[in-house]
Amino acid sequence: MEKVIIIRYSEIHLKGKNRGYFERVFHVNLEKSLKGLRHELHRLSGRWLVEKFEAGMEEEIAERISRVFGVHSYSVGLLVGSGMDDIFEGVRRVAPSAGTFKVETHRAYKNYPLTSMEVSAQIGGRLLSERPALQVDVHEPQSTVYIDIRENGRALVFGSFEAGVGGMPVGTSGKGLLMISGGIDSPVAGYMMAKRGMQVELLHFHSYPYTNEGAKQKVIALAEQLSRYTLVTRLTTVSVTHIQEEIHAKCAAELNVTLLRRFMFRIAERFARQNEMKCLVTGESLGQVASQTIEGLTSSNAVVTLPVLRPLIGFDKDEIIERAKKIGTYETSVLPFEDCCTVFLPEFPATRPKLAFIEEEERKLDVEALVEEAMGTAETIEF
Ligand code: ATP
Ligand code: MG
Repeated sequence: MEKVIIIRYSEIHLKGKNRGYFERVFHVNLEKSLKGLRHELHRLSGRWLVEKFEAGMEEEIAERISRVFGVHSYSVGLLVGSGMDDIFEGVRRVAPSAGTFKVETHRAYKNYPLTSMEVSAQIGGRLLSERPALQVDVHEPQSTVYIDIRENGRALVFGSFEAGVGGMPVGTSGKGLLMISGGIDSPVAGYMMAKRGMQVELLHFHSYPYTNEGAKQKVIALAEQLSRYTLVTRLTTVSVTHIQEEIHAKCAAELNVTLLRRFMFRIAERFARQNEMKCLVTGESLGQVASQTIEGLTSSNAVVTLPVLRPLIGFDKDEIIERAKKIGTYETSVLPFEDCCTVFLPEFPATRPKLAFIEEEERKLDVEALVEEAMGTAETIEF
C-alpha cells in the first residue's frame, strides 16, 4: 500500500484532435511543478498519478499541483492491490469511524469479477460490521469513500476531491509579453493569461538611479511568486531613465505619463517581436487612473500593431486585490518602493489627451534613437 496523488484534468478533453498535444504539455507542466521533489508521474486513462514520493511530502506535492493550470481536481489517496482484502485495507485507512457514509466504486478494469455495486456493497458491509458508529446513507452521506479499480491488479482508494485551479495548460495558447510593474494589477493580469494557457514572459521598466535596488528586488519577488503558476523563471528589465529625462525636459508636463507609456509599448512590442511573442499584456483597468481612460488606452495602442490584451479591463480594484491575495502576490505588491511611473509624476496628468497634441509633443524627441538606446539596456534575469 502506497500513498499517491491522483490528478484529474479539466477542459483538455474538449480539444478533439489536439488532445494528445494538450496532454503532453500538461504532463511536462506537472513535471516542472514537481521539480526538485523525488517522485514518479504516470499517466492513467483520464488521469495522472504521482507515486513514489518521500513519506510526508504529500502536502507539498498537493500544494504545487493545486497551482498547475489544467488541473480540475486532485486527491491524496492510496494505491493498493485490486483484491477485495487489499481494497478493504486501504478503505480502513481513509474511512471515518463515525457518522454517515457511502462507498462509491468506479471500474476502469471492466473484467473485474465483481460489478461496481457489488464492490461498494461488500466493502461497505465489512466496514459497518467493524465500526458500529457508522451508518450508510447513499443520498446525503457525511463522508464518501471512493474506490477506483484500475488495470494491472491495482486500485485507488481515497476520501475526498480537492478542486484544482482549472484553466488550460500553460504553453497551449502561445507566448505573450506581460509588462510587469511592482504594483498589484500586472501580476494578476499575468495570472489570468497563464490560466488560459498563455506562456507569460515578463518585461519590467525601471528608472535606475531614480528607482532603487529595492524596487528591482520587489519585481523579482513578484515574478517568482507568479512563476509558481506560469512556470516562467526569467524576467527582462529595460531602463527608461533617459526617456523620462528627455520627456521631462522637453515636453508638456501633463503628457509625461502618456508619452512614457507610448515608449513602454513601443519597446515592449519590439522585444516581443524579437522573441516570438504574439501579444502584449498589461494590468490596465478602464478608468482606474488618468492613463487608463479609453483615450489613454487608445494613445498607447496607436504606437503598436501587436494585440494588447488587458484581462483586468472590467475588474474593480477590490476584485483585483482579492485575486492578488489568492494568488499570493498582494503582500509583495504593497511594499513601498517607487515605480518608474511615479518618478516625474505630473501634478495633473491629462485624462483625455488628444492624439494630435501627443504627436506634436513627441516630435520634440528622437523617438527611434531613444527606443534603440533603451533596447540596449535590456537585461534578462533567471531566477
Ligand atoms: P500595476 O498595479 O500593475 O502597477 P497600476 O494600476 O499602477 O498597475 P499603471 O502604473 O498605470 O497602473 O500601469 C498600468 C500597466 O502598465 C501595468 O499594469 C503594467 O502592465 C504596465 N506598467 C506600468 N509600469 C510598468 C513598469 N515599470 N514596467 C512594466 N510595465 C509597467
Ligand atoms: Mg503601477
